[in-house]
Amino acid sequence: MAEVSLRKIVKRYDDVEAVRGIDLDIADHEFVVLVGPSGCGKSTTLRMIAGLEDISDGDITIGGDVVNDVPPKDRDIAMVFQNYALYPHMTVAENMSFGLRLKHYPKAEIKNRVAEAARMLDIADLVDRKPKQLSGGQRQRVAMGRAIVRNPKVFLFDEPLSNLDAKLRVQMRIEIKKVHQKVRTTTVYVTHDQVEAMTLADRVVVMNKGRIEQIGTPNELYHNPATRFVAGFIGSPAMNFLPCRLEEASGRLHIRLTDRTAFPLPPARAARYQSVSRNEPLLLGIRPEHITEIRPHAEPGIEPFEAVLDVTEPMGMETLVYFTLDATPACGRVNPNAGARDGAPLRMAMDLNNMHLLNETTGVVI
Ligand code: ADP
Repeated sequence: MAEVSLRKIVKRYDDVEAVRGIDLDIADHEFVVLVGPSGCGKSTTLRMIAGLEDISDGDITIGGDVVNDVPPKDRDIAMVFQNYALYPHMTVAENMSFGLRLKHYPKAEIKNRVAEAARMLDIADLVDRKPKQLSGGQRQRVAMGRAIVRNPKVFLFDEPLSNLDAKLRVQMRIEIKKVHQKVRTTTVYVTHDQVEAMTLADRVVVMNKGRIEQIGTPNELYHNPATRFVAGFIGSPAMNFLPCRLEEASGRLHIRLTDRTAFPLPPARAARYQSVSRNEPLLLGIRPEHITEIRPHAEPGIEPFEAVLDVTEPMGMETLVYFTLDATPACGRVNPNAGARDGAPLRMAMDLNNMHLLNETTGVVI
């Protein structure tokens, strides 16, 4: 049993409220990622779970026990940091076994656990080296190995991949996922990188200004964001937000984007938005992949329009196109053979079956 629960957790530093009443239930075996921009309170939350920061208000339970006043070493957690925090004078094996030796585990048991973790992390041939003889990626593996050998109730990761180059980050991300598939230890992982959050997590917790904006599986957050913040934070390039209003024209509900541009809504969308006030200032939220070149045999709800492209970015498998709709910047993703060129007009299409409608004032997705 190693579920982790946060009940109305608050952290105040003098007059700063870094964490403002967080409720979160993490299931046994679950991999949960806390993600959000710098300063949103994710590290503080993780450090409170670890016991490295006092809680100003609320309760944290690990495996059903309230741990508010339990010191870090007695919480049965293992933390992996961005800076690895390895002892420079110890070998890899000594670093990995340090915690177990402190607790006077039998020598044979320690040896087995270190060997098993080293094998799992593919560092078996490095165990006699010192940290300075290792690459950044290898050091991070050792830091993970040190966590694994302790077989704790919970793993806590604080931006563990931030110091690695882009290629190595992708590789280590896959390694961490593989390790979790094997050991199944409940994991709380902090990152500011939404791609890392999406690729690793069973559930992602999006934080903003000390609060939780939304909790969901990666797909839930991507396809059904609850707020403008989440819609804009998850996904790259980011979702477009185009000012708009609803209006009735020839018996159908339309979405008006500019004086020149209005599209009829597909029936399912029209039904959903029927009760929205026609005067409300709204935002059309639409992801770049739903603004494409015109394709033959377009489905209903895919509406054509023309734009002059400001900038095009060929990515190989697709070309990103940047343009403005009545001064609002927007981004689309078109086929590399669609004829997109800087400064040239392009006939495009918007897939309104995949649109979101947001209240411009509150940022809530309707
Ligand atoms: P994140 O990990 O999301 O970048 P943090 O949890 O580190 O954010 O910080 C949340 C907020 O708390 C920030 O505004 C930060 O400046 C503030 N903060 C963090 N640690 C301290 C501290 N020791 N004293 C005062 N303010 C702090």
